[in-house]
Order: sequence, then structure tokens, then C-alpha cells
Amino acid sequence: MRRKLVAGNWKMHGLKAQLGEVEAIAAAAAANPQVDVALCVPFTLIAPAVAASSALPIGAQDLHEADKGAHTGCISGAMLRECGATLTIVGHSERRADQHETSHDAWAKAAAARRHGLHVILCCGETEAERDAGRAERIVQSQIEKSLPDGASPEWLTLAYEPRWAIGTGKTPTLDDIAAIHAIARAKLRMMVGDAAVGIRILYGGSVTGANAADILAVDNVDGALVGGASLTAEKFVPIIRAA
Ligand code: PGA
Repeated sequence: MRRKLVAGNWKMHGLKAQLGEVEAIAAAAAANPQVDVALCVPFTLIAPAVAASSALPIGAQDLHEADKGAHTGCISGAMLRECGATLTIVGHSERRADQHETSHDAWAKAAAARRHGLHVILCCGETEAERDAGRAERIVQSQIEKSLPDGASPEWLTLAYEPRWAIGTGKTPTLDDIAAIHAIARAKLRMMVGDAAVGIRILYGGSVTGANAADILAVDNVDGALVGGASLTAEKFVPIIRAA
């Protein structure tokens, strides 16, 4: 009942020279209709990527919580929609670390995205120190509690569990650890939104590759993957799409 979603996060990678990869990923998405595929690219690549891949949902990686105003250098949900984005990531751990974003910021950004009709991929995940201290489960619960936008529903919200220490490191939690956190995230969603929680997809993210995707995607309550490094080329990303 929950279709798998494989979403790429290109982070600060991608110039027009890489549009060929977008086209190849769009072709692979069309050839694998059993799975939903989306690509979150840098702001500057959204419109060209939309033009290059009409059927592939193209998203952003962040937006401002306000609809407009004196916010130099920021991008609003309306701007994202105007250039063709249909979704956006919010609360990614790199933004939490680099831009000091909090769960409250993620909540406000998710609400802004919702106002503009953007699907939201809301990220949560513990640091290595938090995991070592045995606090991973509590951290994820608290992040969800503070960042889940009001009235969250599967039509416009996806959750992504991304342990920070697994991002870009080649390290992944054990499948049991992934299952444990996803079960806890599902239970938290159920407490907060009731039956709608059953339909909300929970992605796993952090060093997903073609080699580990099938195992990770088979874990209970893992409804897809948020993929960074391995989404940058069709060669690496397509095996993950196929594994779903
Ligand atoms: P990674 O990044 O796949 O390169 O670990 C995942 C993410 O940050 O979304």
C-alpha cells in the first residue's frame, strides 16, 4: 500500500553539463513504474532539470519559511513552484549542522512548502555521539515531535531517517537498527496524526548504494531511500531504483 520512493539529493552538485544524467535518470524512472523516483537538485538546476525530464518530479533541498520579504539570498516556496519544483527536502542534517537549523525551523519550512503545494521530505536523524550515548531513538522522536507540520498527511509529507554519521561516510546502521528507528518513527507518527501515519512513507538515507539498497529497502517500515552521492550519476542511481 505504500509505494516505494527513491529520491536523489544532489546537494551542491550539478551544472547544466549534468543534465544528461537527469535525462538518463528520468528514463530509468519511466522504465520502473513500480517505484516513485524524484530528484532534488540545486536551485539553479530546477528549471533546466524540469525542462529536460518532464515526467520526473524535480525538487529543491531547502526553502525559506516566509512567503516573501526582506531575506537576502533566500528562496520561497512560490519561487520553487514557479520554476517547476514539486517537492522539497527540509531539515536535512547538513543544514542543521552548517546553517544551525533547528527542528522548529524545519517545522516552519515544512509548513511553508505545504502552503505552496510542495511535497515535503522532512529529515531527522541522530549524530554519532547521540547514538553512542544510546539516545538515537529519543532524538529521532523529539525531532519528529518538534518538526512534523500540522495536519501531516501522506499526500504531501514523507519522513526521512538519516543518521548523520551515515551520510557520505560509507557507514550504515545495521538492518536491525534501521528497523528499530523506523518502527519508532512510525509509532510517533501514529501518536501525532493517527491513522494517516499508516500511509506516510519513511525513507532511509545515509550511504545507500546499489550494493546495499535491496537489503535496506526490504526492512520493515522502510518505504524508500534518500540518496546523496549515489544519485549523482545514472550509473550509480539506476541500480537503486531497480532494487526498489
Ligand atoms: P549520502 O547522502 O547518500 O551521500 O550518504 C544522503 C543524504 O544526505 O541525503
